[in-house]
Amino acid sequence: MDPLLLTPGPLTTSPLVRAAMQRDFGSRDPAFTEMTARVRRRLATLAPEPAAFTAIPLQGSGTYAVEAMLGTLVPATGGAAVLVNGVYGARAVEALRRMGRTCEAFATDEGEAPDLGALAACLAANPRLTHVFTVHSETTTGQLLPLAAISELTARAGRRLLVDAMSSLGAIPVDGIVTDAIASSANKCLEGVPGLSFVLARTDALARAAGAAPSLSLDLHAQWARLEKDGQFRFTPPTHVLAALDVALDLHDQEGGVAARGGRYQENMQRLLHGMAQLGFDPLLPPDRQGPIIATFREPASPAWNFQRFYDFLRDRGFAIYPGSLARVPSFRVGCIGQVFPADIDRFVAVVADWREAAPW
Ligand SMILES: *Cc1c(COP(=O)(O)O)cnc(C)c1O
Repeated sequence: MDPLLLTPGPLTTSPLVRAAMQRDFGSRDPAFTEMTARVRRRLATLAPEPAAFTAIPLQGSGTYAVEAMLGTLVPATGGAAVLVNGVYGARAVEALRRMGRTCEAFATDEGEAPDLGALAACLAANPRLTHVFTVHSETTTGQLLPLAAISELTARAGRRLLVDAMSSLGAIPVDGIVTDAIASSANKCLEGVPGLSFVLARTDALARAAGAAPSLSLDLHAQWARLEKDGQFRFTPPTHVLAALDVALDLHDQEGGVAARGGRYQENMQRLLHGMAQLGFDPLLPPDRQGPIIATFREPASPAWNFQRFYDFLRDRGFAIYPGSLARVPSFRVGCIGQVFPADIDRFVAVVADWREAAPW
């Protein structure tokens, strides 16, 4: 039996989502074209001001959407200030540099709050910077960044905000956030399958970006223009993945939308943090920076500790966790998203308690 995936994605999905992939659509089949339009409309409702935004789906994992958003919307004559609190902020910096875009990185230690004072000072000193980029939920640690404060600061400085909301959109609201674009993916909080990412872009900002992207396949404007023209993806669409997302969005609605999905993840997270604390595991983040998506725990400081043995023990009992990816702190991660419910987290904590008894460090 496949383990429950307590990871940041791919995730455990509903059998209904997987069943939606049993059908082979032709890309010009009217049923598929209609489905594409419907999914785009539904995704746009997740934007802060749905009427001002358009949803552009892209073939590929989340990174493709982030790179397309940055390459299309940060102009060659401008630049971006990027908040870096983990690997996803760092990845945006690398994407911008490879595309030859001007970029100022603001790195804080993983798990620390971003230095917004330094960001404001940088924007004041660098009129060339037209954009600010931030991750919303930094999946490296599980930290939730102060998006409202970053949005306010960016607007006050007269700059445009771009957001990687990969592991938050659909579970953590973005109401009131002033932004030109938000990148996300089918297989995180929306609980679809991997292979499709998307950008929610302010239509007026996107319309100004014709010909700006340095890449053919990651040209968000061209992808949008084609979808608007005849409802088609420019290149082979991930038909099965889109059909799965359409059903995943039904389930998202049925659960009660963003508030209910986020509420379930929050409940998962509270039980996880509480249960693990009782077993002596130390979370990396203080409660005020801990988001509901994924938790990072420090590895116990004992010579007897062995991550692989811990992983295998849990895997044999039906749970897949995730290794840490912190530069300095040895750690592991446990995700709370996907088709994972509070009772699953309780069972997981009970298995960790068994492990603790069988192999104490
Ligand atoms: C998952 C994720 C991405 C995209 O990673 P892929 O491996 O390309 O799916 C980007 N940013 C954040 C914050 C993520 O959690």
